[in-house]
Amino acid sequence: MIYEGVVYRPPSEARSLIIQATIGCSHNKCKFCTMYKGKKFRMKKRQEIVDDLIEMHNYYKDVKRIFLADGDALIMKMDDLKYILTKINELYENVERIGIYASPRSIMTKSVQELKELKSLNLKIAYLGVESGDDEVLELMNKGVNSDEMLKAALRIKESGIKLSTMILSGLGGKDLYKNHAINSAKLISKIKPDYLSLLTLLVEESSDLNKMIEEDEFKLLNPKEVLDETKIFIDNLELEKTLFRSNHASNYVNLEGVLNEDKSRLLEEISIALRENFYKEELFRRL
Ligand code: SF4
Repeated sequence: MIYEGVVYRPPSEARSLIIQATIGCSHNKCKFCTMYKGKKFRMKKRQEIVDDLIEMHNYYKDVKRIFLADGDALIMKMDDLKYILTKINELYENVERIGIYASPRSIMTKSVQELKELKSLNLKIAYLGVESGDDEVLELMNKGVNSDEMLKAALRIKESGIKLSTMILSGLGGKDLYKNHAINSAKLISKIKPDYLSLLTLLVEESSDLNKMIEEDEFKLLNPKEVLDETKIFIDNLELEKTLFRSNHASNYVNLEGVLNEDKSRLLEEISIALRENFYKEELFRRL
């Protein structure tokens, strides 16, 4: 099996077998994202995917987790997805969980009933890049949906019983919109009540459209202290029940982990200490 281009997967799929079901991202227009810029989006043919599954099975028989890449594999037609999931279950009899990247648009191409069917075929977790709950930020970054559309899609996944992992991007509002980004992202996530919530930090690639905006002074990056202030506002405004929260990615200035809301005060205290003691990974911040 030969992967096409760079392959991305969520941190929690680090030990999964990664199978490319689609190539690239069907949206591919977010200003901060360069992950799939070099790839023209296409869905792989059923047989190409099955060939990859068979080939990998020669090497790895006892696979517990499989992740379907690239950026938005849930956009595949229902028949194709069902066919691929069925093949996975037939070939890999020990597989416990199949995961997938989902976008709001790809989720809305499936009804709740169809998502339930996919769940019954072992599709157990979907990863959704929410990025922000603020409409101005979503529009500025060309996410292609507003917060209401994001909410509708996320709730559809939840209703199907597939576990939902969401991601918010710290710093995405820049200096002008950071408060609205923090508060409205917290409001949206509180309505979604995802199973998992990751908070990553915006790191700007030179080739991104966002980098051009920074060079033209249309977007001002937050410094590490401002990112942590924003994180405090975000966490403080979250109203969750038992969401597993992680902000311990390589991009984060301070490592945070807990269950929200029960660990809210501890997490806020950890950020306050990091700010007071200047105990954060300042070297990650490469530009102002
Ligand atoms: S952030 Fe997600 S939806 Fe946006 S271009 Fe990148 S992969 Fe596609």
